[in-house]
Amino acid sequence: MNHCQTNFFSFLQFVTLSKFSCLSHGLSLREQTDKDQKQYDCDFGNDDAQIVRSLFCRTINQPPHALIRCQQTHESNIEVINQNSPNIIKNCDGVCTNISNIPMIMLGADCLLMIIYDPNKQAVGLAHAGWRGTVSQISKNLVRTMQQTYQCNPNDLHVGLGPAICKGCYEVGPEVIDAVNTQIPSYRSALQITNNNHGQFDLAMANKLQLIDCGIPESQIELSNICTKESAETFHSFRRDKQNSGRWALICGLLPNPLA
Ligand SMILES: [Zn+2]
Repeated sequence: MNHCQTNFFSFLQFVTLSKFSCLSHGLSLREQTDKDQKQYDCDFGNDDAQIVRSLFCRTINQPPHALIRCQQTHESNIEVINQNSPNIIKNCDGVCTNISNIPMIMLGADCLLMIIYDPNKQAVGLAHAGWRGTVSQISKNLVRTMQQTYQCNPNDLHVGLGPAICKGCYEVGPEVIDAVNTQIPSYRSALQITNNNHGQFDLAMANKLQLIDCGIPESQIELSNICTKESAETFHSFRRDKQNSGRWALICGLLPNPLA
């Protein structure tokens, strides 16, 4: 990932997506590079976070008042966004649009957040995939929705798979093992059984395999390879910080890329 710094804020960008002049995106960091010891939280519901989101939006050239966010219910529903969409999309973990100047935000702690961009059709989607979203194949749903709505060709899609809890840190129990075995048996390779009732689950790998199955070339899928739990300075992690965990944000939209 690229580390970017402007007057307002430092943040991360996917290397591949940062090259597109009509896509503006960024991933927020938990601490800023000036080491002011302040922890930046993008969660909704507190005034500090609102200031952080506004600064972040301004940094990456997004209109903060118009941010579209999902309720994020760990399911796999995708909503198509247009000028008439409400700011909060209920019962939804993925959104896509082909309309310019609509910034969309997804929040994460350990779950995988992703961007899918079609430079040919000028459409962009983002999704939130924890284990529940992954076994209900939200990444495939997002690709299908973009194909049906914007006639996207999977061959043209570029994907950024963001930071998430890594396989080694993500110990899961029988509920997840059962769900993987029954709902996504063909992606069982993303799950490693460690004993009878436990295993380690690779969220990024399970989603990457789904996206490749949709026809997206592997070379167009960028993995961040950042583990949220092991990156205390840069990312919030629910497994690490429990109830005290904040949220990091992935924001993107079809706007001129200020850094391209
Ligand atoms: Zn880890």
